[in-house]
Amino acid sequence: MSDLYDLGHQPPLGVVPARMHAFAVRQNRFGQPRDAWRREVLPTPSIAADEVLVYVMASGINFNNVWAALGQPLDVIAERQKMGEPEDFHAGGSDCSGIVWAKGAEVSNVNVGDEVIVHSGWWKADDPWVLAGKDPMLAESTRIWGYQTNYGSYCQFARAQGHQCIVKPKRLTWEEAGCFLLCGSTAYRMLMGWAPNVIEPNDVVLVWGAAGGLGSMALEITRAVGGRAVAVVSDESKRAFCLQHGAVGVINRCQFNHWGVMPDTKDAKAYGEWAKGARAFGKAIWDALGERTSPRIVFEHPGEATLPTSEFVCATGGMIVICAGTTGYNVTLDLRYHWMRQKRFQGSHLSNDEQALAVTKLVGDGRVDPCLSHTYRFDQIPECHQLMLENKHPHGNMAVLVNATKEGEGQTN
Ligand code: NAP
Repeated sequence: MSDLYDLGHQPPLGVVPARMHAFAVRQNRFGQPRDAWRREVLPTPSIAADEVLVYVMASGINFNNVWAALGQPLDVIAERQKMGEPEDFHAGGSDCSGIVWAKGAEVSNVNVGDEVIVHSGWWKADDPWVLAGKDPMLAESTRIWGYQTNYGSYCQFARAQGHQCIVKPKRLTWEEAGCFLLCGSTAYRMLMGWAPNVIEPNDVVLVWGAAGGLGSMALEITRAVGGRAVAVVSDESKRAFCLQHGAVGVINRCQFNHWGVMPDTKDAKAYGEWAKGARAFGKAIWDALGERTSPRIVFEHPGEATLPTSEFVCATGGMIVICAGTTGYNVTLDLRYHWMRQKRFQGSHLSNDEQALAVTKLVGDGRVDPCLSHTYRFDQIPECHQLMLENKHPHGNMAVLVNATKEGEGQTN
């Protein structure tokens, strides 16, 4: 029996070869994703009692592994070594469709041979917070699988915890199933996880970066639950995509120039200029909608560049919910609008099992499109991350074939 199989050359079910193909980053090549991600042959990891090994058919591409390649804002390899893990590489990837190939003695929700997708919420089963039955995404031990943990979906065999596995929706191909869950589950928690600020019928939701991975899922989820999304993009070529995926209106942010850290409120001239820009953007939302209604939820992730405007345009009693600071972390906002209009500024990170399951059900039922943009080959993993860093990637969610040998396979009804 071979100790290494070519991609797509399936070993007998349950047989785990000693080595595998994978894409990995090492500290001595941190930098541009094109150079940082390299194909390697690595030892196949062993699994603990609560873990599974998944034979990966297709993977999604996410921004977190752009950050991993850059080594910023976190050196994920050094972080793990501090916690006692010996590996000097990061074999990442946080979105996966595949087949359960081996499972630990404590895993009861899936069996070897099951077709699954994997969500990326990882936590320690013996974490007191988790044991108390509270939201595990708020536990101290929580990590993002395939970013803060090793052996993710850019491996021929990925290592995950059993609870991360969700039955693969039968109607999806491997690449459709593997591309959406990280962004989909994050968007679902942001929009439906922070009661009482969850989408209600007809609610207006402002979605930044609406043609991106997160944004496209936010558009789809908003439409599916009866809300009305106003999309923000930087390029007219994205307008049709947003309308097709659920937006009721689209704003091109290039028509405004008041972005970035808000000026000092004591500098009347500079503040006045800024406020003019923010007001004009607010009016653009009403124009896009065709009525003077402000967003009850603002779906944030650019951060520094957009947060002052998000705060300004959010409706009284509404929520700005944020999961990233892609443009910077030094956020400013005019507190007067915050307390007088009783707004909420809510951080949000990935999702728990129930939220990942809920968005997968919407996709499985055909109510949310996974927004697969383009399917790439395994060896294009570095280039996909480079495109993402340069904001040149195709609209929606990218996928990469791992053990699947061609597109369009994996649908079983
Ligand atoms: P993406 O596909 O690259 O989309 C991001 C979008 O942001 C782009 O399409 C771009 O759209 C927009 N954007 C870029 N620069 C901007 C600016 N200066 N002002 C306003 N919008 C800007 O990435 P993604 O997958 O959606 O992820 C976005 C961020 O969320 C990343 O930082 C990622 O790491 C993070 N994230 C966090 C979590 C979590 O759980 N915490 C989960 C998923 C993603 P336009 O240029 O068209 O405006």
